[in-house]
Amino acid sequence: MVSRAFFLLTLFFSFALANTLEKISIEKEYLKLFFKRPLKKQELNSFIIPSNNITKYVFDFKNCTKNKKIKYKYTCKGELQSIRISQYKANVVRVVIDSRVKYLLKFFQKDSAIFHISLPAHKVSQEKNKEVKKLFNSIRKDLDTSKISPKEQKAQIYSTPYSINLKNNYFILIDPGHGKQDAGAVAGRYKEKVLVLQIAKRVYKKLKILGFKVAMTRYRDNQFLSLHQRIKKANKLHADLFVSIHANSISNWRRKNIAKGVETYFLLKTRNARALRIAAKENRTLLSAKDSATRKVLLNAVFTGPKIELSHRLAIDVQKAVLESVRSIYPDVKDGGVRGGPFYVLVGAEMPAILIEVGYISNPVERKRLFSPLYQEKIADGIVKGIIRYLKNRERELE
Ligand SMILES: [Zn+2]
Repeated sequence: MVSRAFFLLTLFFSFALANTLEKISIEKEYLKLFFKRPLKKQELNSFIIPSNNITKYVFDFKNCTKNKKIKYKYTCKGELQSIRISQYKANVVRVVIDSRVKYLLKFFQKDSAIFHISLPAHKVSQEKNKEVKKLFNSIRKDLDTSKISPKEQKAQIYSTPYSINLKNNYFILIDPGHGKQDAGAVAGRYKEKVLVLQIAKRVYKKLKILGFKVAMTRYRDNQFLSLHQRIKKANKLHADLFVSIHANSISNWRRKNIAKGVETYFLLKTRNARALRIAAKENRTLLSAKDSATRKVLLNAVFTGPKIELSHRLAIDVQKAVLESVRSIYPDVKDGGVRGGPFYVLVGAEMPAILIEVGYISNPVERKRLFSPLYQEKIADGIVKGIIRYLKNRERELE
């Protein structure tokens, strides 16, 4: 009986007693955090804030204070920019790893009360290649497991987008272009429908991590929606923003090395030959089935979008952010600019709506990049960042 009472008592105290982070040690592979007593599962909250240049890996240790001798910031060299440790709240210690790369994050508790967090390469520069490889593998693995279950699709739960300081919750509908029998642009075995679905999934995941409500018009390759069905879905769901993701190609193969770059479109009547040509390509599935009278009606609908101004601004913010992001690894990516165009997928949208052409799969150099996980991550980062930038500016205006 005595031993049992003692056991209960220890259990009680170990639960109730506040923990202390006593010291830290930055080692080659791990950051080690020495706590006074072992952590409990419910005392740890961790999340990732993806961003353009620096990815933040955040760990909150609840029911904990830190030894005042531990510095706030440790600046590092290499892929690891810094480690920050703060008394975030009276009883929460926050550890942030600012990394210049996305890396395979591992964390665990070992030797009773020593918490280990893996670090990206720092100091030792020969480690870089290995780390890049690791990074690729982790992203690839992430993509393989990126099937979004029907349950997850339905669970559109808002959480607070605290990390990005937006006042309201927003619902973003992501539209991966084409699908099923409609491959979109094709270059050999490379298909637009496959590429844009991969990128859309990355955008979806990032927005979800940040706390947005988010859905996609299609989640699988064998799903086909007409252009009209896509925008109808956006209106029905009362999405705040509609972002359609496409990839470009040119039919004149003699120019295949010249045509390249990122372009963002919003719905507008235009005489711009280039915008018309690209719109015609994206509109093909719709127009092929219509007689000329129907086409005329549809064309007229194009010219009266109520959200043109806002769509234009969203297009500018997304275009800019995507370029910034992809140029962090390939500074030569061409800025194809923001243009208005008669894209039917955007017709009838009750919310700001844009269509982004992430690159030319007809261009051999760009195609190789587009189908690489790292480049896709950069595009997705840019789209997310552009969306946030737009929403922040809107909130500022409405203040
Ligand atoms: Zn397309």
